[in-house]
Amino acid sequence: MGIAVSPQIHPHVAEFIDQPRKMLINGRWVNAASGKTFPTYNPATGEVLAQVAEGDREDINQAVKAARKAFDNGPWRRMTASERGRRIWKLGDLLEQHTEEFAYLESLDNGKPLNIAKVADVPLAVDLFRYMAGWATKIEGNTIPISAPGFLAYTLREPVGVVGQIIPWNFPLLMAAWKLGPALATGCTVVLKPAEQTPLSALRLGELILEAGFPEGVVNIVPGYGETAGAALADHPDVDKVAFTGSTEVGKLIVHAAAGNLKKVSLELGGKSPNVIFKDADLETAIPGSASAIFFNHGQCCCAGSRLYVEKSVYDQVVEGVAEHARKIKVGSGLDPDTQMGPLVSEEQMNRVCGYLESGFSEGAKAVAGGHKSGGRGYFVEPTVLVDTKENMKVVREEIFGPVVTAMPFTDPEEIVPRANDSEYGLAAAVWTRDIGKAHRMAEQLRAGTVWINCYNIFDAALPFGGYKQSGWGREMGHDVLNLYTQTKSVCARIA
Ligand code: ADP
Repeated sequence: MGIAVSPQIHPHVAEFIDQPRKMLINGRWVNAASGKTFPTYNPATGEVLAQVAEGDREDINQAVKAARKAFDNGPWRRMTASERGRRIWKLGDLLEQHTEEFAYLESLDNGKPLNIAKVADVPLAVDLFRYMAGWATKIEGNTIPISAPGFLAYTLREPVGVVGQIIPWNFPLLMAAWKLGPALATGCTVVLKPAEQTPLSALRLGELILEAGFPEGVVNIVPGYGETAGAALADHPDVDKVAFTGSTEVGKLIVHAAAGNLKKVSLELGGKSPNVIFKDADLETAIPGSASAIFFNHGQCCCAGSRLYVEKSVYDQVVEGVAEHARKIKVGSGLDPDTQMGPLVSEEQMNRVCGYLESGFSEGAKAVAGGHKSGGRGYFVEPTVLVDTKENMKVVREEIFGPVVTAMPFTDPEEIVPRANDSEYGLAAAVWTRDIGKAHRMAEQLRAGTVWINCYNIFDAALPFGGYKQSGWGREMGHDVLNLYTQTKSVCARIA
């Protein structure tokens, strides 16, 4: 393929996408059982970037079989925690050594700026693997003093088993790391399905996984569509747990599909996060911080600060400040070093975002920055600030997953908590104020899995992330995530 490639492309990446990419099953790179492939596109041009093996139920069956065998009988099972940890650490090192190449792949497949992928996506994934490598040797049970005399009772924390992991397209590599890191640290085996829009970096990571010395079948990677490969993984009777990141709508389908064998489920879903600026905030940081809260990754973040609430006396100043940031953002191809915002991931996503803009305008919203598709070829949308929005509008209630923020004033600080919490989602929230008491009271009252104070989008492998309400089940990262991949066994022995 390679037809949409610019001359400046990284040579290893050019080579990687030149051949149809295969799937990783049982330590080997294989074609789909059906022989089919599907295209992945360069969103900056709309052209085909590469062809990828199209996994379906039969491939998922093979991958689950390999993961089952590796979990039940393979060398992985007998490996010490320290040996597991060393392999995960090595994977982090290998990834770091290939930072440039992975940043190119992410930029080409997802559209995000190369320079951002280099300093955010890849290093965060490296950190995640290193953090999780350390946990492998620290997964411990307890001794329990039970009431009856003459017994020794203790708990073991054991891996949950074969895990199906389904990930989205907004941070393709980082989401693969968030999923694989804890599964491998706890001794699970994995079938990973990357998003059909962005399968390339996970497939390249698969090569490094083999190089890092994970035994065959421990990690299987099956690209394909959600309704086929994804659904086959979610309802597979031999999968012990499914971990999903994506839309709330598909999250609900996963829950239904998992019911057949009552597999464990963890979900990281949508958001419509409130970002609250009080009049006593340091506006010099709150304004750029709030622009970045929505425009980072083109608004394609489940935790994007998409509902901006500003105390009335500073509302005009903040809205104009955020709008000015929006107007100045340089939108273009991710490979252009001057680009600050690339295209959205797909034509479908672009049309979805533009549909929301239309809906907002028809309900009376106005754009003070952006408001349209931009550029010719490629899936570009202008960074947009909407005003005159009301709480009942679709653009305020629903997740747009694009570079669109709605700005609304508030007068009484007491009213803002219920307004901020008035959402079916509860993934993240932010508060900007110099009053530390108010900041922490707000942090307590906001129904969200993450609350940022005087900052936004600060992530760390050690800091749990996940949703209240319909934003999900469970927490990823931090030591919390280990609960998602282990189960507790109580052992009780009569000793007297
Ligand atoms: P988006 O709408 O933002 O593309 P999705 O929730 O549709 O996000 O996709 C996230 C991931 O879920 C992708 O890997 C996709 O292939 C997968 N997926 C989509 N539909 C299903 C489904 N019915 N069952 C399992 N996985 C699915």
